[in-house]
Amino acid sequence: MSNELPILIGSHVPMCGSKYFLGSVEISLNNGANTFMFYTGSPQSLARSPIEKCKIDEAVKLMEQSNIDINNVVCHAPYLINLGNDVSSYKFDFSKKLLASEVDRCHKFHVKKLVLHPGAHLGLGVDQAIKNIAYGINEVLKDVDYDIKICLETMAGKGTEVGSKLEEIKKIIDLIDKKDKIGVCIDTCHLNDAGYDLSDSNAFLKMFDDIVGLKYLEVVHLNDSLNTKGAHKDRHANIGLGKIGYKILREFAFNPILKNVPKILETPYFNGKSPYKLEIEMLVNNDFNSSNFLKL
Ligand SMILES: [Zn+2]
Repeated sequence: MSNELPILIGSHVPMCGSKYFLGSVEISLNNGANTFMFYTGSPQSLARSPIEKCKIDEAVKLMEQSNIDINNVVCHAPYLINLGNDVSSYKFDFSKKLLASEVDRCHKFHVKKLVLHPGAHLGLGVDQAIKNIAYGINEVLKDVDYDIKICLETMAGKGTEVGSKLEEIKKIIDLIDKKDKIGVCIDTCHLNDAGYDLSDSNAFLKMFDDIVGLKYLEVVHLNDSLNTKGAHKDRHANIGLGKIGYKILREFAFNPILKNVPKILETPYFNGKSPYKLEIEMLVNNDFNSSNFLKL
């Protein structure tokens, strides 16, 4: 049973087809997960199904029956949002509106964790972008009185991305008015690509605590990386098939400090097949064998 897993683990799952949110829960249960992450619509477009069609009540009921705690379910905001650059007030407003509508949608889905890429400065410089991002989030959260946390994701540092250094994440948090509505999502692939050493999870988490504060840590994206440490690339690999490696990722996933933090796999499909059931089994049973992927 999924509720007996030793860790909180799941993957990103689609919300497509006629079953919508209920389908996301069913896929996760089939994978043996006890949490999951979803997008309330396409991450790359604005198309959003009306809330009434999303089978939210049915999904919540199935979660209650199967002990997926909805408090651990994660939503990912669309990639189109960029609060880092405000040169075009049209684009900045668009990002703010899109984030506000996503926060509202999360609330209607009863989901309390919304992962957000902090943004890209596109030439403005990191310091200005940090102010813009915090300003945008403050505007969005101004009238929000329900329980939601916008979780700033640590980035690989591609292009002009903000948030590849923990100090940058901390600076954004410092400028947020409603500190109870802000959190952090760490992505192991992004951290590796940004240059962080994950080989000792306790040492990394101690550093995270010193710089940002563990109380803000709400989500872990558990991914291997195709690239070496510090490559600033952001190409996810299957668990154990990348440069971070199985041993380090498993130790990370099982670190007791992260006991109550959902671990979400965003690894790529392998030969066109979903790897999540296998990856969850490998981690839970501590039984890694790269040839298992070939049997998918
Ligand atoms: Zn992300």
